Amino acid sequence: MSRKILVTSALPYANGAIHLGHLVEYIQTDVWVRFQKMRGHQCWYVCADDTHGTPIMLRAEKEGITPEALIERVHGEHTRDFAGFLVGFDNYYTTHSEETRACANEIYARLQAAGLIDTRIIEQYYDPLKEMFLPDRYIKGDCPKCGAHDQYGDNCESCGAAYTANELNNPYSAVSGAKPELRQSEHYFFRLSDRRCQGFLRRWTQGEGRLQSEAANKLQEWLGEVGESKLTDWDISREAPYFGFEIPGAPGKYFYVWLDAPIGYMGAFKNLCAREGLDFDEYWGPDSTAELYHFIGKDILYFHALFWPAELQHAGYRTPSKVFAHGFLTVDGAKMSKSRGTFITAESYLAEGLDPEWLRYYYAAKLSSSMEDIDLNLDDFIARVNSDLVGKFVNIASRSAGFIVKRFAGQLCVCDESLPAINAIRARAPQIADHYEAREFSKAIREVMALTDLANQYVDSVKPWELARQPAREGELQAACSNALNLFRLLTILLKPVLPALAAKAEAFLNVAPFVWHDSDTVLAAGHAINAYQHLLTRVDKKQVDALLAANRQSLSATPPPAPPPPAEPAAAVAVADVAPAAVAAAGPAISIDDFLKVDLRIARIVEATQVEGADKLVRLLLDVGPLGSRQVFAGIKAAYEPSALVGRLTVMVANLAARKMKFGISEGMVLAASDADGETPGIFLLSPDAGAQAGMRVK
Ligand SMILES: [Zn+2]
Repeated sequence: MSRKILVTSALPYANGAIHLGHLVEYIQTDVWVRFQKMRGHQCWYVCADDTHGTPIMLRAEKEGITPEALIERVHGEHTRDFAGFLVGFDNYYTTHSEETRACANEIYARLQAAGLIDTRIIEQYYDPLKEMFLPDRYIKGDCPKCGAHDQYGDNCESCGAAYTANELNNPYSAVSGAKPELRQSEHYFFRLSDRRCQGFLRRWTQGEGRLQSEAANKLQEWLGEVGESKLTDWDISREAPYFGFEIPGAPGKYFYVWLDAPIGYMGAFKNLCAREGLDFDEYWGPDSTAELYHFIGKDILYFHALFWPAELQHAGYRTPSKVFAHGFLTVDGAKMSKSRGTFITAESYLAEGLDPEWLRYYYAAKLSSSMEDIDLNLDDFIARVNSDLVGKFVNIASRSAGFIVKRFAGQLCVCDESLPAINAIRARAPQIADHYEAREFSKAIREVMALTDLANQYVDSVKPWELARQPAREGELQAACSNALNLFRLLTILLKPVLPALAAKAEAFLNVAPFVWHDSDTVLAAGHAINAYQHLLTRVDKKQVDALLAANRQSLSATPPPAPPPPAEPAAAVAVADVAPAAVAAAGPAISIDDFLKVDLRIARIVEATQVEGADKLVRLLLDVGPLGSRQVFAGIKAAYEPSALVGRLTVMVANLAARKMKFGISEGMVLAASDADGETPGIFLLSPDAGAQAGMRVK
């Protein structure tokens, strides 16, 4: 029976490039959607750029263009990148659309009519220079817990403390550098704390299979015990200036970007309905029997499993059938990093000539239905693509197609359907379909590769290349190659959701209509003529991967790394460093906390300090670094310090600097000193910790 299915992926924020981390979700969703379409279901896949909010407004201002021009340009870039990775949206739209505005207004009006909208006066920081209220991420100051400077308004990157912007000491606006003032304004709230919302969400989130069990547990935590009212009302308005939809009947107030972002799913679908003649209510109406699935990253579960269903339910729409959350991407076991070149953009991957289906295959081979992170291990990526796809899968076709075309005018003979490999494929296809359906792609791939091994065992047993040298065995050669091509065809059908472009090439040379899933029940008839074999897939060359890393390894001074995505903002990885106060002298190029933490700074006690014979500037120091033992360091501080005066004092050293062989001996680290720009003497000031620090303590 044909199902009606509507599928969405989370909306990428319209102020940055699509990278390989984003692509985990779009490839995961696309594979699932392609599978459903191959099964003959009516499945629609929509998405859109998430275009509203302060970061977009400020970015456009900085570029000297309108927000509309910015989001238009980014929409073009995103559309290009997704197409490059064969992500087959039925509609890739924008939240800045009349359809989304109409849906947002309607939902808001219905929630208001249901008594679920409240207004409240809140006090918030205001930038008097920019004349705007500041989101927490645009306020910086000293951490109220540890005193670290230049911390964001929601949490401290130095000590990890979480707090509100009002608790920061010496706050300043990250937009203008001005000292912000606390001002009051009226905000609109969605009354999530209302008993109706709480009761509904308790039932909804624990509904059978609606959320992954890990997600359902998380939601249980957020909802608290029955009777316990843990949910607080949700602030859904923002003050002008703001790029977004003005709230009807509330001049100067705008819907918070996170209110209209998921409504963008509806807007994108409404736009598709107009184009395809679909009935919107059949998918979104309260009595809809269609299935609705949201694929999201685990970081935005709160928005999709709490706010969103509560909004829909109380505004008279249907709620999602299921929400599928996935984990994050790591590269070679670590967070993506610009300095290592592993913050890889979709654009650069394609520009360096890497095949998008290599990545689609690798991700599919790693993805499961869980929320666990997945790792792109680059060596494994090369090995797996070359061995599985090129060595095993494509090889079946390339070893047999040529003989059929050259010797038999492209004609196949009857396929031997009693072959163990053919029987195995038929027997396993339903299980593989179940794995795709359950988003257990890695299991599907493992099964297909086991079947590919069986197919290769068959080809190796009949050896077409040897038959081809024996004129008397023409019939056997045609049979062997016909069987091999039928095996290849069946395996291609099973891999088509993952490898749509390769499947299209296979369909072309096999001279068949586009594969659907149930084609795996049949074989090609005797007498079917194929076209000339065309090259299907090349091997990954390690040099290409190296070049890709080099292309993404940005000189750190060129672009600041993106700030970590704020927990309560949309995918908007607000590049706060972009809006650093202009009046302050530039610090060095921005680095991530990970980069900083690579430096092992320790308190060291100077045990010995001696002159170095023949060296003008150096003093030889013997340092006690507590549990790290003692280290010899040559320091260029002779002009500023009399060696004997240094003995016994504490300083700070880099303990994990690679040892360096110098003319006078080995230097096993570096001590830290301040100096003027050119480092000329006598302006050298060795660092000292406050009293109480002990040798060996970590400095961070
Ligand atoms: Zn702190």
